[in-house]
Amino acid sequence: MRDEKSYAKWVRGENGHLTKRYHAIDPAEHAVVCTCGRDDCHRARLLPLREHIAELYRVIRDIHEEEIAVCDPSRWESVLYGLRMAASIDDVEADTGYVEDPMVFALCEPTIDYEYGQSEMASKYVAAATIFNFLWQAYEATVSETASDELKRLIKEQRFGERGRRLLESRPELSQRFRGVSDLVKLALTHCRMGELMTERCERIEQKYGSSTLVAAAELAREFRNFLFHGGDESPGHEDWVDVAKSRCRIYRFYSVSVLILYLIQAMAWIDHESDDERTEYGSEDEALTPREIFERLQFKGPGIWPPLKGEMPATAAC
Ligand SMILES: [Zn+2]
Repeated sequence: MRDEKSYAKWVRGENGHLTKRYHAIDPAEHAVVCTCGRDDCHRARLLPLREHIAELYRVIRDIHEEEIAVCDPSRWESVLYGLRMAASIDDVEADTGYVEDPMVFALCEPTIDYEYGQSEMASKYVAAATIFNFLWQAYEATVSETASDELKRLIKEQRFGERGRRLLESRPELSQRFRGVSDLVKLALTHCRMGELMTERCERIEQKYGSSTLVAAAELAREFRNFLFHGGDESPGHEDWVDVAKSRCRIYRFYSVSVLILYLIQAMAWIDHESDDERTEYGSEDEALTPREIFERLQFKGPGIWPPLKGEMPATAAC
């Protein structure tokens, strides 16, 4: 019953205790979920976002333990900082009614409900945007340290988003090694389109870079970041009052683009390591993998489950 619906963050449960009706990071788990049920679905095997970030943090820290211990500052320090901060967010509480005169809400339940609803969306928006920003920061830090003998002018001019894309453009074979990237780029583009306000940017990306490679991922992440940075975005309205798909996608796109950024950080770290680097103990079965193999698959549950790559990967149908 609509009348009984509560929009407040804290609600009283059957046992009489107050509990949170939602957490601001809840949409992270819904944004990239797939229920197609196929055995070879990459998206269904992705770690939840927060665990993915934490896993990448641990891998970089462990592989570079020595460098981090002896170098002051280590070149991985800023990357780890961004990842740690992004993973740290548990919940966020925003109150959009703060600027109003309290009398506005006096004895007017619809107004109170509406403000609670807007505050819920603002909380989810602030959480998503903050996580995205810390991940972008980590990505820029990784790009600035990768292949330092190439594209030096872009480092000097601090054009890291462009530099990341161009490092990948000169390595087109890399996209085949990162499973699921094609499906994820398509998903992120769909979220970006349905969330509106950046349709033209999406058209440009697809026309120039397509929608299936790490290059397209890097360009979408760069465009999305610029779109936010220049104030193009708006917090969505609550889905009970506006278009449901638009409301959800305006939050989801932060997370689908964030997953792409994690892939991009992994791709940069992949470039940074030589193919004959030492094998390391990794994964639940204590299998020996090279750092490059780890960076290709750490985003999946049970990283050892995928058969080894042989030449080109078969194209995966979007799900
Ligand atoms: Zn699927």
